[in-house]
Amino acid sequence: MADLNTNVRWISGIGEARSKSLNKLGIYTLSDLVSYFPRAYDDRRRFKQIKDLHPGESVCVAATVAFPPTLSHIRAGMDIVKLRAVDSAGSLNITFFNQSYMKNALIQGENYIFYGKISGTAKNPEMTNPIVEKNDGKGRSTGRIVPIYRLTSGITQNMVSRAVLQGLAACGDILPDPLPRGIQQQYKLAQSRFSYENIHFPNSPADLEIARRRLIFEELFVLSCALTFLKRNKKVKEGTAIIPADMREFYSSLPFQLTGAQKRAIDEALLDMAKPIPMSRLVQGDVGSGKTVVAAACCYNAFKSNLQSAFMAPTEILSMQHYETLSSMLSPLGIKVDLLKGSMKVREKRAVLEKLESGETDVLVGTHAIISENVKFKNLSLVITDEQHRFGVNQRAALTAKGISPHVMVMSATPIPRTLALMIYGDLDISIINELPPGRQKVDTFAVSEKMRARVNAFIRRLVGEGRQVYIVCPMVEDNETFSENMKAVKEYADNLQNIIFPDLKVGLIHGKLRPAQKEKTMAEFAAGNIDILVATTVIEVGVDVPNAALIVVENADRFGLSQLHQLRGRVGRGSHKSYCILFESSGAETAAKRLEVMCSTNDGFKISEEDLKLRGPGDFFGSRQHGLPEMKIANFASDINLLKLAQEAAQKTLSADPNLSKPENAMIKEHIKKMLEYNADTLN
Ligand code: ADP
Ligand code: MG
Repeated sequence: MADLNTNVRWISGIGEARSKSLNKLGIYTLSDLVSYFPRAYDDRRRFKQIKDLHPGESVCVAATVAFPPTLSHIRAGMDIVKLRAVDSAGSLNITFFNQSYMKNALIQGENYIFYGKISGTAKNPEMTNPIVEKNDGKGRSTGRIVPIYRLTSGITQNMVSRAVLQGLAACGDILPDPLPRGIQQQYKLAQSRFSYENIHFPNSPADLEIARRRLIFEELFVLSCALTFLKRNKKVKEGTAIIPADMREFYSSLPFQLTGAQKRAIDEALLDMAKPIPMSRLVQGDVGSGKTVVAAACCYNAFKSNLQSAFMAPTEILSMQHYETLSSMLSPLGIKVDLLKGSMKVREKRAVLEKLESGETDVLVGTHAIISENVKFKNLSLVITDEQHRFGVNQRAALTAKGISPHVMVMSATPIPRTLALMIYGDLDISIINELPPGRQKVDTFAVSEKMRARVNAFIRRLVGEGRQVYIVCPMVEDNETFSENMKAVKEYADNLQNIIFPDLKVGLIHGKLRPAQKEKTMAEFAAGNIDILVATTVIEVGVDVPNAALIVVENADRFGLSQLHQLRGRVGRGSHKSYCILFESSGAETAAKRLEVMCSTNDGFKISEEDLKLRGPGDFFGSRQHGLPEMKIANFASDINLLKLAQEAAQKTLSADPNLSKPENAMIKEHIKKMLEYNADTLN
């Protein structure tokens, strides 16, 4: 007997190779399989008589094969099967390319259903590569709403839907069902079985909607319960109350005046830290809004009470940059800032660790390694993380395990509309820096096609001639199969730039696969002005600060999300120089062009994220783990806000009636919460 934990190989037709392909999609067990929801649907319910067909429409036609199909071999790699199908009043010409088996599969005199797009003319309609099934009432690919799944190489739509069908048949009575009966009835939610069956193979659009509503609610309900649990666990901890320091010395040491928004964020954080419960504050501000100085102010505040702070950045390069920035702000005030790097020699590392333990170090900067087991602080009271979505529960847990519950500040440039942020982060307090330092110039942005290449190169040369520096960003494909090829292309691109186009300038290359030490060296050379043009994959995306860089060119810009492009653009315009962003657009697709237009028309990160939402749909925007929440299978934080509210309400009710979820009817929720948190341990903050 199969159950939800049975391996997908149990399904007939799924062997070693196919199961590996399914694994790539995150499908290992029957539970994963039945929860692998379609990404779209194709409504193939409409039937037409051949005489009524119009070119351009996609329909089902029930027709009989009139003559034996013919197979012709056009050239190597090109076979064509042709046939004519007829119904009571018309005839339809059908062509299959490279499906020579159709010649014998389709038999003269038999009746089939063909589904496809009509071409030719109304008088002489044609179909190319239609979907075919026997007209025996048993077909699953025609005459109904058909699921479309996200695929990977080695598997087809048919394979997935057949596997899902088997999975549903085997597990129909034991499907995941975390919803307590009371909640299900109160919110008028469909049964589990109905929902799973109809989400895959909907009987009608109305049934699909009912199924979706139930499954989205279910997912958001489990999430809400999980978040409430986490929140509760956090609240009980005690923290160190820090008496707010007199900040005048710090403020007057800065080379600039703080903006009102920065001051507000600092005040809010200082008030939080004055309480005996740990601060949990998100500082959200667009790129360049000046979040680092807010962090520095908090470190100063802790230092004034003789307490240590830790500042974590997502990469070693960034931690070095932050080290420099924080040192320059804090060491003149007598604050000892140290840097801990993975690439340090053992001896150097040991020296840093000793100073840290003795309390000589006031502020430690590094990647998340600085809160690992063998790093001992004397009295850590504040942890600041830059780009919060890269730090997860594990890091928090590591700290708690050491018996410390420091004040935590997370800084993020991810522009999530405020209402959503509150919903998503729930218990986090949020400071928004909604004001850029004065004098910031808009980065002029242009979306261009390949035709402009020569002019862009001339522009690069002119800017470098004026003493400026340039970033050129090439997108990298992460997946392993194409990675090395892609890598080669980026290297060739950089070589070509150096040897052919700009032989007299200094071109550098930085990418994710370089050793950290090498990356740092290149970055440092760029920062020092020894490199004119830095070709980079997105490793420069977050936080890098080289004020002399005045132009960023993005190749294949349509492959990036708008928010990502906005982050990239934030690498320039950081100094006093007029700055530019040039986006090469390669696809020629209309939506791509529209998206890039948004970049050209505004520099406001919040507006851009809203546009991104509209154009790409929230799925992409919120699906890319930008928010630090578990990935949702079906729910969508933007479009399902109403259901999210209901689910939150239901979660509150359930948890106040049964705070530890120990009643039998709530046993399943607990299990699902555990699964959600485990599965997403790295992303859930
Ligand atoms: P981000 O929010 O992207 O982390 P940074 O903290 O790196 O921004 O600040 C960007 C730049 O703006 C830095 O060079 C910083 O010195 C400068 N800056 C920050 N605050 C101000 C201010 N109030 N006035 C002028 N410049 C500022
Ligand atoms: Mg920053």
